[in-house]
Amino acid sequence: MNVIFRSYIFDVLYTIADQLIKKYNPCQIYKDARGKAHCLRDLPCCGGCKFLGPDGCTTKCLGCKLGLCETAQNANLELYKLLFKMRHISWRCGLRGIRQSKKEIIDFCCRSNKDRVTRMYKNAMSNTIRDLKAALEKSGG
Ligand code: SF4
Ligand code: SF4
Repeated sequence: MNVIFRSYIFDVLYTIADQLIKKYNPCQIYKDARGKAHCLRDLPCCGGCKFLGPDGCTTKCLGCKLGLCETAQNANLELYKLLFKMRHISWRCGLRGIRQSKKEIIDFCCRSNKDRVTRMYKNAMSNTIRDLKAALEKSGG
């Protein structure tokens, strides 16, 4: 699957998930009088993330968009089932990863595919060398 197609799938899933999250509002995030953010579970799970800005997330992270904590899942079962199906599609397309930008997710996915191809190539090469050695030994070479 090439980068352009993967990027397209990423955007489609992200846009749908974003619309669903806006519709269901599963986390019910609000700021208290001191400006501290709270959610359905009390403290939002974005704490400490490099992409967390004063007004929330500053990147497009598909993994985060498709994930809910258990509290939010249980309170939004219909939404959870929809996001779960979409998560399967994203995994199948190699678009895993939370707390990562779209570029980081796509780059990582391409790198891991490259590693896989390199591993397959190495295995094929070592099998060929082994077969050649066996053939040489058999022929007394
Ligand atoms: S997923 Fe759970 S912990 Fe994270 S913001 Fe939503 S309600 Fe809070
Ligand atoms: S990348 Fe994920 S954890 Fe980080 S701020 Fe965005 S939604 Fe939160």
